[in-house]
Amino acid sequence: MNRVFFRNATVWDGSGANSFPADVLVEGNRIKTVARNVGQLSADGATVIDCRGLTLMPGLVEGHAHISFGGAVNDKDLGDIPPEEHLLLTMRNAKTLLDHGFTSAYSAATAKLRLDVVIRNEINAGRLPGPRIRAASPEITVTAGLGDERKNHMYYESFGMIADGPDDMARVVRLCCREGVDNIKINISGDDLGPMAHGGLTVMRESEVATAVEVARDFGKRVNCHSRAAESVKRAVRCGVDVIYHCESADEEALDMLESVKDRIFVGPAIGIIYGTIYDGAAFGFTKEAAIAMGMQRVIDDSRRVYTELRKRGVRVVIGGDYGFAQSPQGTNARDLKHFVDLLGYSPSEALQCGAKVGGEIMGLGGELGQIKEGYLADLLIVDGDPLKDLAIMVDEDRLAVIMKDGALYKDKSASVARGRATAAQ
Ligand SMILES: [Zn+2]
Repeated sequence: MNRVFFRNATVWDGSGANSFPADVLVEGNRIKTVARNVGQLSADGATVIDCRGLTLMPGLVEGHAHISFGGAVNDKDLGDIPPEEHLLLTMRNAKTLLDHGFTSAYSAATAKLRLDVVIRNEINAGRLPGPRIRAASPEITVTAGLGDERKNHMYYESFGMIADGPDDMARVVRLCCREGVDNIKINISGDDLGPMAHGGLTVMRESEVATAVEVARDFGKRVNCHSRAAESVKRAVRCGVDVIYHCESADEEALDMLESVKDRIFVGPAIGIIYGTIYDGAAFGFTKEAAIAMGMQRVIDDSRRVYTELRKRGVRVVIGGDYGFAQSPQGTNARDLKHFVDLLGYSPSEALQCGAKVGGEIMGLGGELGQIKEGYLADLLIVDGDPLKDLAIMVDEDRLAVIMKDGALYKDKSASVARGRATAAQ
């Protein structure tokens, strides 16, 4: 059996406890031993990685992944990509995520029905590098909702699938289940970045949401939703949606409702795209003034209010900020960790827990993924530096000395990091 011995690590175990020195033994795809008595554990027959005090932490979980999104300025851009190129783009994105320390990705939505599914299957078969993936459906939306880019006189593809009325919703959800998705995405509210329904509108009827959830349950699938307006959050909770994204306009009643189901649901602000539109959008046609006029600063301010409350009330929050647009490129996903601290008021440890422990739970692997504990799945990173002191380092691929997924060493640059240190010390 494959054994890897991490000697002399500084372990941040993901529980929220302070880091501690330890030796960690991985056997097969699980963490076998976490030994706080450094130097006592036998490394017999194991590949030894000398951590020299570097941080050993759980692999990151992207909680709002769009693995098939890349470089889009407008939502319609994703519809323009032919299926062949789109598959290759998705394949590259999956590798990019793993290269940046994301050993798991919970997909919020795919841009074409089978993209997440086939990439997940190829990764699981060991034929492509990439994270563990929970594959999503496209964004199921109503006519004139987010993801409907058509004109009356002209058809346009987008990332959406249109469903109007409960019967049509049942058909579309069943189609997605037939094609192998793990979770269904529905757009209950509009969005200020879309051309039609703005973010304050709740445009998917309660009967449509209820049908989507009911049919998804029949097939044993989860449901994610896009909900900005307060009413759209309440509708999601009433109908039993599992993962409720955005929520920044939640009022007191919506917050109480979210809290009442906190052991069942997950929420995620998806703040990266909002920040990117204000501060990194100039090259793509979003000046700072235009982004603020579009309401982007308001979304950040409202998110800070809402997520401060949700944090206090113990609602489970995931990182993941709609990475895959021009102003939020794939590979920069870990920027969300620092955004949680700078924009939403989290401590670095709390932000990292959202990106690891809570991530393990949204992957459906709570109690066995997202922490460094004996018996847990061995998805691990060695980070050159202390993320608790500087979360920005988590975005830098070069600071990830080791990436292990499912007990397999995907990347091991620990020796060259050691050489670099020795050279710097001379
Ligand atoms: Zn999204």
